[in-house]
Amino acid sequence: MQNPVELILAKREGKTLSPADIAAFITGFLEGSIPEYQMSALLMAIFFQGLNPEEIAALTQSYIRSGQTIAFPAELIVADKHSTGGVGDKISLMLAPIAASLGLSVPMISGRGLGHTGGTLDKLESIPGFRTQYGPDEFKALVEKHGCALVGQSEELVPADKRIYSLRDVTATVESPGLITASIMSKKIAEGAEHLVIDLKIGSGAFMPDLDRARELAELLVSTGASFGQKVRVVFSNMNSPLGLAVGNALEMVEAIEYLKGNPLADTCTLTTELTSRLLLSGGLAQSETQAVEMIKAAVSGGRALAKLEEIIIAQGGDPRALEDYSLLGTSSVKIPILAETAGWVQAIDARAIGYALVRIKAGRMKLTDTLDYGAGALLIPKVGDFLEAGEPLGEVHANDPAQAEEVARLIRAAYTLSPESVPREDLILDSI
Ligand code: URA
Repeated sequence: MQNPVELILAKREGKTLSPADIAAFITGFLEGSIPEYQMSALLMAIFFQGLNPEEIAALTQSYIRSGQTIAFPAELIVADKHSTGGVGDKISLMLAPIAASLGLSVPMISGRGLGHTGGTLDKLESIPGFRTQYGPDEFKALVEKHGCALVGQSEELVPADKRIYSLRDVTATVESPGLITASIMSKKIAEGAEHLVIDLKIGSGAFMPDLDRARELAELLVSTGASFGQKVRVVFSNMNSPLGLAVGNALEMVEAIEYLKGNPLADTCTLTTELTSRLLLSGGLAQSETQAVEMIKAAVSGGRALAKLEEIIIAQGGDPRALEDYSLLGTSSVKIPILAETAGWVQAIDARAIGYALVRIKAGRMKLTDTLDYGAGALLIPKVGDFLEAGEPLGEVHANDPAQAEEVARLIRAAYTLSPESVPREDLILDSI
């Protein structure tokens, strides 16, 4: 193989890497001949110089080939959803059991927290005993038996994404369309999902700042999926306000459980319904949007989706008592209110700053080896366009370190810009393809 430094240099200078170079770099990294510092340097060069479609295809292929792929029996309708990452985004925790309870097979390979965004795996691991590491055969068997499994990348399932994903998390190399495409699509192709809906988030808490950049990413995701025979739908959703009420692993798990008990919040309900409907329609289980929405409502109100979540938790080694006793998910010894300093309409929320503030109290990781505090997080009430009185609580920080909790409350308060003029509320669903 070429000296890795030459490849890093070539990308740093904006040159194109060949599929063979890309494959060799990924293999060398996984085998240990290329250390993390050289991989990190290449990631940063890619972040600045980008990847062309051929390079993205080669990177995706290298990720997929780093592990095994799963093929499900033809009679199953295999479908999945993936988000490009947001703050308070717990939609997968509701969507997966709802979709499985309605007859879709959902082999969901998810991720951990990435940058300022939370990760489905971290939220699920707040359930004591919940196992997320499986080999392909066990994963497939879980999906065939229970209709769903939520797992992480492993040594046999997209190990290249497992290693590179965690490295990007701590090296500020997340917001690259090429790296995001290879990361998401390799997981979704390796798991064998035939129908896929992507929740492509846009705004202050997302990796894509505007609709134009998001459309470019959507094109890459759709064309990469198509080249592997996958039907990819994309819903563009607003991430200028944290989603739902809770941000933080255990708090988000509680919000998801409450949703399935019939207590959904307005924004999470809209988005969960939109994304699940797309899968039901794409998979042919619903003939119209109205029918899909009715099916989803009935799955929640009849308790089938909650029962499915319980079945999944038990199947994956988790303690189902956490569905009733939320203290099992993680606790916080300190709760600090966050109060509005002046009256006004919420003009902007720096959701990214909120995500990073919460990393300080271990709701996410600063470095690879960090352990999480599942109880750490915040409840955040207002959305862009809402009005607050001076002194009104805009939320509450939950933590286990009083000094840090005060600092995080200060940072979160600073993330809200209030205006004396009224500010229009924003749409949650911005577009779809
Ligand atoms: N989700 C992923 O799996 N990978 C990314 O790079 C971003 C979001």
